[in-house]
Amino acid sequence: METCPGRFVLSLYHDHDEAHASFFGLGSALHETIENTILLDWDLKRAIKNVKAKVRTFLAEARRSERRIIETSKRGMDTMLSDAERMIINWFNHVHPDGDDRHPIYDDYMWPPKVEQTFERTADSAGTQYPVWGSVDALFRHKRAVGMGNKDHMIVDWKSGTQKQRSDFQLNFYRFGMGMGDTPAHFHHLDRVRKNAIVQQADPYPGDPEMARLITETEQIKLGILDGKIPDFTPSFLCPYCPVQEFCPVEGWPSKSWNRLKLRSMVDLAVPLEIVKRKVDNGAQ
Ligand code: SF4
Repeated sequence: METCPGRFVLSLYHDHDEAHASFFGLGSALHETIENTILLDWDLKRAIKNVKAKVRTFLAEARRSERRIIETSKRGMDTMLSDAERMIINWFNHVHPDGDDRHPIYDDYMWPPKVEQTFERTADSAGTQYPVWGSVDALFRHKRAVGMGNKDHMIVDWKSGTQKQRSDFQLNFYRFGMGMGDTPAHFHHLDRVRKNAIVQQADPYPGDPEMARLITETEQIKLGILDGKIPDFTPSFLCPYCPVQEFCPVEGWPSKSWNRLKLRSMVDLAVPLEIVKRKVDNGAQ
């Protein structure tokens, strides 16, 4: 769930104008390489070669483009290649059965895991207004997967950032979407090497009703937009790293009021025709 609802909406409208963020480029290169290393059974050398090629492509595109570039003190464009190499080596050593220092949490699970495992739940089954769908980075199956209920699997999400995750919502969303409520789930931090810091386990599952409630809240924001409502914007310390900051009506530049006007007209245009027709019909009465 987005911390700033407005950011989600601006990203939909400005998909092709978003800033190039070093941390997103790095995350994509790592995710794609991990997926291929699992699916195609690459060795570490091949994985390193691939992740560096992905990063080089990203850097070349960022240099060519006129879009803004966002970096952080720990994730700069100049360190992307070495960051990617270090993290793919960490991943291989901590997760892959041929790794030098495998994390014990993976020992009880079969290799290879399923990758980019998609899921979809109907609105009826989810208790939401619309279907719920998504995909999970990796789904491991327990070696003794009989009579264990949902505990016969483990959900893993790879993280290339520098901070711990502040919320389990993402993992709980996967548990909910897959109908696997109390399945063990964790974030795996690719840039950590201390055993107790690599794996960030999710707390106990809050239950389907609570998840359905949280998802319904997000749906209401989307429905509001379809009804012509400007979403809320919640400025925070994250704004300088927001890829759509320049288009934002509260933090944007060069003109916040111009951004608000533009957003107003884009939201108006996003209203489905049947709603426009309903309004015209009601107005005509
Ligand atoms: S700049 Fe801040 S307030 Fe504006 S969309 Fe981005 S995160 Fe939200």
